[in-house]
Amino acid sequence: MCSTFNPLERNTNTLPVVQVTATFPRRDTRQIMVGGVAVGGGAPVTVQSMTVTKTADHEATLQQIYALAGAGADIVRCTCNRAEAAEGLARIVPRSPVPIVADIHNNHRMALAALEAGVHCLRLNPGNIRKPEQIKAVARECKDRGVPIRIGVNGGSLDPDLYHPELGVTPEAMVASAMRELAYFEDVGFDLVKISVKASSVPLMIEAYRQLAETTDHPLHLGVTEAGPPPAGTIKSTAGIAALLAEGIGDTIRYSLTTDPVEEARAGRALLEALGLRERRSVDLIACPSCGRAEVDVFAVANEAMEAFGDRRIPLQVAVMGCVVNGPGEARDADLGIAAGNRRGHLFVKGENVAVVAEDAMVDALVEWAEFICEHGAEAALERAARTRASARRAADEDRRRNLDELGDDANNSETVVAGIRRKSRA
Ligand code: SF4
Repeated sequence: MCSTFNPLERNTNTLPVVQVTATFPRRDTRQIMVGGVAVGGGAPVTVQSMTVTKTADHEATLQQIYALAGAGADIVRCTCNRAEAAEGLARIVPRSPVPIVADIHNNHRMALAALEAGVHCLRLNPGNIRKPEQIKAVARECKDRGVPIRIGVNGGSLDPDLYHPELGVTPEAMVASAMRELAYFEDVGFDLVKISVKASSVPLMIEAYRQLAETTDHPLHLGVTEAGPPPAGTIKSTAGIAALLAEGIGDTIRYSLTTDPVEEARAGRALLEALGLRERRSVDLIACPSCGRAEVDVFAVANEAMEAFGDRRIPLQVAVMGCVVNGPGEARDADLGIAAGNRRGHLFVKGENVAVVAEDAMVDALVEWAEFICEHGAEAALERAARTRASARRAADEDRRRNLDELGDDANNSETVVAGIRRKSRA
């Protein structure tokens, strides 16, 4: 619930000030190129996801790659587990809108076939291909072609000799696995490498990445493996990835969710935008939590607006607020917003009332004004509303007064509850 009064009574001007910057300092890493996308070395943190189609079905896989790119993926990984998949990659790579990474399982020949297909990067799990001569053969071929490899250590599939007899998987063992693989690569003079040390335990993966960041300056690919379905999987992934990014660790990320991979790409993109590590690309929809003062079903309108904006490239903050009493004030920093009142919606741009629309036209109006602002800017939107602004402000004032008259200052009965608590605690 929004407050109708300012709860800050002390003078904050006298407190020491911490300057909050828009982003976080990044750890210095080498840079590699995955196709045309830079990873590490100060490049923007990138979002990755993985297709769940059969790679051999190149049309279905390409369709999913386009959907992932539309949702924010900069790089997409496809499995290459058999010859048919490698053939699929040969058809996918030339038509893909983003660089393609081939995920190699147990057979190093599939890595060589994927390279032949023209992939932009390989992912090798050191726990799966263990013969040094096979690893070096792949690294040699990558070196000749200038194609990077991700060393993808997974807590669940470590080389058996690395498991601690009592503790099982440790961060030290995961880092040792990565370093062992790196040493094979160095033997053949190959260093186009990024590394991941994923685990399904968030504390374990955080510690493994911290140790890895102390050990090497290769770029790091972050992720919580097998995080599960949303919302728990999204929360787990965010906890692990965000904690590391806030420490400056991480150059590329992947959410591993048990759901449509488009959700992985969206989540990755949203996290980077929230941390100020990538520019906003699509709508940042904010909404009030609703309360006794709300004049509309805020959840329904917010969801409808989310759906209407989808992945459209409208980099604005848009607010959906349940009442005109507090809504416009609380969302004054949003580029555009709408607040409900007396079965109508009050549209505001940068906190200024601009128009009134019928309740069932609220979402359409938001989309239309967002498109206008995106194309012409907020100033032009305020000019566009020059003739309606005064009447829009009057209508908002009317609805604000009516809401306050009907519901009073205490729409949520908080003061009655507080009085009850006081009475009981004195009894
Ligand atoms: S309905 Fe109004 S007072 Fe309640 S949470 Fe939303 S904006 Fe705040």
